[in-house]
Amino acid sequence: MSVDPEQIRAYVEYFRDLGVHDFYRRGEPMAALAEEIVVAGEVPGGLGVGGGPGAGAVSEADGVGAGGSSAGGVFAAGALVSPPDTPGVSGVGAGAEGSWGIGKLTSFDDLAPLPEVRVGVADRAAALAAIQAEIGDCTRCPLAYAGRRRIVYGDGDGAARLMFVGEGPGADEDASGVPFVGKAGQLLNNMIGAMGLKREQVYIANIVKCRPPANRVPEAVEANTCTQFLLRQMDAVQPQVVVALGSTAATYLLGAKQSLGSLRGRWHTVRGAKLLVTYHPAFLLRDPRQKGEAWKDLQMAMAELGLKAPAKA
Ligand code: URA
Repeated sequence: MSVDPEQIRAYVEYFRDLGVHDFYRRGEPMAALAEEIVVAGEVPGGLGVGGGPGAGAVSEADGVGAGGSSAGGVFAAGALVSPPDTPGVSGVGAGAEGSWGIGKLTSFDDLAPLPEVRVGVADRAAALAAIQAEIGDCTRCPLAYAGRRRIVYGDGDGAARLMFVGEGPGADEDASGVPFVGKAGQLLNNMIGAMGLKREQVYIANIVKCRPPANRVPEAVEANTCTQFLLRQMDAVQPQVVVALGSTAATYLLGAKQSLGSLRGRWHTVRGAKLLVTYHPAFLLRDPRQKGEAWKDLQMAMAELGLKAPAKA
């Protein structure tokens, strides 16, 4: 059977953004399908997360469950790579899935208690800078060896009332070191503008800070490693409202893999903030018909923050 990995990737991405994580082909277990896609995509050896369109196609078809609970990903199955040390990372390592472990999905609220003493407004920028310094030239997870150029830490007002969390840097972000600067970023900027805010007034970060090869979904080990820093960024910024952009952000912030449809339209909590889930701008670029739905989500955030849409010119 001939499989076009790009086509499969686009197809799987579309459904993933809708929160559909698991795919089965009648009569055949997923593992067999994944294997076929590996062959079709000619996944390179080496680190197994290292570049090439195949890497994306495999991971997304196999690991569509951005969350750690998806069963035995190609990567997690240890077929392609041996792990570097990930010191101090909980939920990663030995596990039923092999020495990589797939990591346990844990909500941000359960990962660590909220700090008793919270960072004052004047100190938030310094707190963020200290976390960034600690990250340094990070080699804590495989993405460090997978062709990343820049670590994309975060952007915006360190004392913002509104924070957006995406999935991970793409090519433009990898080149610039700034989150959401590509096409999806332009749409996010428009969304922020429609809320009556400027981009500089919000804080923007991602589940992972390094670009996954071929823009594949971050593996659980990568997300679980990286989010220890995102959690601290969130505790430093202390936003009133967090908007999770897409399924991967929602999965890791909430520690549960659920359809976007079931998560949208209602409030959740994360690190003392109110959390909303909406579509990822990249998904909205693929399916602009959903923009109205995303706007409904953003209007909930606006009501919470007392924001009014700017008058039309
Ligand atoms: N998509 C994301 O999830 N994050 C970015 O920074 C850019 C695109």
